[in-house]
Amino acid sequence: MKRKIKMRMCLLTIFTCIVTFYATLAASYKTASIRMEIDTMRQASLVAAGIENIENLDEDEQKRYLDAVGKSDRSRVTLISKDGAVIYDSNADSSKMSNHLDRQEIYEAIHNGKGEASRTSATLGHQTYYVARMLKNGNILRVSNTTDLVEDDLKKAFPQLAMIIFMVVVLSIYIASTLTKRLVKPINEINLKKPLENDIYEEISPLLHKIHAQNNKIDEQFRKMYHQQVELEAITSNMSEGMIFLDRNLRVLSINNAAKKLLSVPKCEFIGQSIISLNREQGFNEKLKQTVKGEKTEYRMTNNNNKHLQIFNNPVQVDGKIRGCVILIVDISEKYAAEQSRREFTANVSHELKTPLTSISGYAEIISNGIAKDQDIRSFADKIYKEASRLLTLVDDIIKLSQLDEKAQQTFKFERVDISSIIKKIRNNIKVYADKSKIKIHVISKCVSLDCVPRMLEEAIENLCSNAIKYNNENGNVWICISEKDDKVFIEVKDDGIGIAENDKKRIFERFYRVDKSHSRIVDGTGLGLAIVRHIIQIHGGNIDLCSKEGEGSVFIVSLPKEQNKNQ
Ligand code: ADP
Repeated sequence: MKRKIKMRMCLLTIFTCIVTFYATLAASYKTASIRMEIDTMRQASLVAAGIENIENLDEDEQKRYLDAVGKSDRSRVTLISKDGAVIYDSNADSSKMSNHLDRQEIYEAIHNGKGEASRTSATLGHQTYYVARMLKNGNILRVSNTTDLVEDDLKKAFPQLAMIIFMVVVLSIYIASTLTKRLVKPINEINLKKPLENDIYEEISPLLHKIHAQNNKIDEQFRKMYHQQVELEAITSNMSEGMIFLDRNLRVLSINNAAKKLLSVPKCEFIGQSIISLNREQGFNEKLKQTVKGEKTEYRMTNNNNKHLQIFNNPVQVDGKIRGCVILIVDISEKYAAEQSRREFTANVSHELKTPLTSISGYAEIISNGIAKDQDIRSFADKIYKEASRLLTLVDDIIKLSQLDEKAQQTFKFERVDISSIIKKIRNNIKVYADKSKIKIHVISKCVSLDCVPRMLEEAIENLCSNAIKYNNENGNVWICISEKDDKVFIEVKDDGIGIAENDKKRIFERFYRVDKSHSRIVDGTGLGLAIVRHIIQIHGGNIDLCSKEGEGSVFIVSLPKEQNKNQ
């Protein structure tokens, strides 16, 4: 803008100077012409007066006089007789000159005493101004001057004039530059944040008011957008699911912390970057390419932390055009593990049921075919009975476990009971069984009340006590200790039996896991007991820990909260 103003000012000045220059020339020419005409008239009058005063001079003396006048001045002097013959001419040979009666000024002088004309001289070939005077003797005196003289004068003045014009142009460029700077400076210094506080040209005031209104509008829109963004961020940052917004070129517009965590990416800023910088998995990127074409896609992957992720890609359409896509990342590790354990459980159940059924079917077949000797039939029937009992126990445990699985999500009816009463009941239940193996049961109990589902808690502790007897040596001991600390109740079931090897400790709570298959087969069991115990303890919001040393014994420590959450 500054350059433009400066340029235009300079061009205007140069144009003005050129116009002024020519106008001055034209005016000077006109003035000089008029002055030349006046001078010519005055000269004509003077020379005429001179000749008339020296009337008694003969023609030769007159010629000499006119010669002297003609040489002393640039003007041309001509003396013409009444009949038009040229007697004398200061610039040409009069004898060669034609009759001048037809010349306008001569004609006027003969008739009016004086005459004037302006034309190109036939003799000299220049534009000439003529003034003629009739003398007393009837001759005509003519004085003339060419306009070339005027032009000569102007030509002499031309360099000075050009110099002046040049100086004016230089000066005006300097002034234009200074003025432009001064003009533009306040515009450059306008405070656009507070446009109404600027005190500059009145003409700019409407513009400043417009800027002020626009600023207010932008501020308002910015505030709205900011609030919306804060709300969206508050929602997405508190989501456990990952959420990513992408534009149609798959560049990140927004990403929440959960998404960064699930995709195992650093917590740095990814806005504006391609999604490839977040996840290079080819399958994932292929699905996204399909999504930005308008297709809803899904993808499953495992992240660096071995979490199973389900990714839902949805295209975002505005006015029928794809503007980007939204990615929702859900951690399905738990669901995946549940599916996995259900699959394993089904396979194990089938396997565990098949073993006793095969035995039963085998013995029954031998008896029905009549192959079995009479004395063996009783022992076969006994084996069938034992396998069937085992089958029943197994089915019973499976039903319990699946009931617990189902009920885990439900509300249980908790009652306030004294734990010592439960222990007393358990002791009575297991006593016969313990006596069979000559195992002593020691109870160190006290009255402690807690919220529980009594039937379930009794089953869990009885299971632990049964194991302590089952996996014990003859004349062994089982201790049941009740204690309390703060808001918790501790139930310890301890034995000095066979103990559990370090490697097995981690797995004994798994469904169908039995430590030493050969030894465990001697002892009846389904491998589901501890899984049921752990499930029941979890339902009570408690924990179960195990300390054991192979050959020395084991201790299972159950900790339970005294009070259950009232909302449960
Ligand atoms: P089971 O019906 O076989 O007893 P559990 O789930 O109750 O199934 O126990 C799983 C395995 O843990 C058992 O097979 C056994 O090997 C081991 N176990 C459980 N309790 C004890 C214990 N008190 N002492 C030694 N081993 C035990």
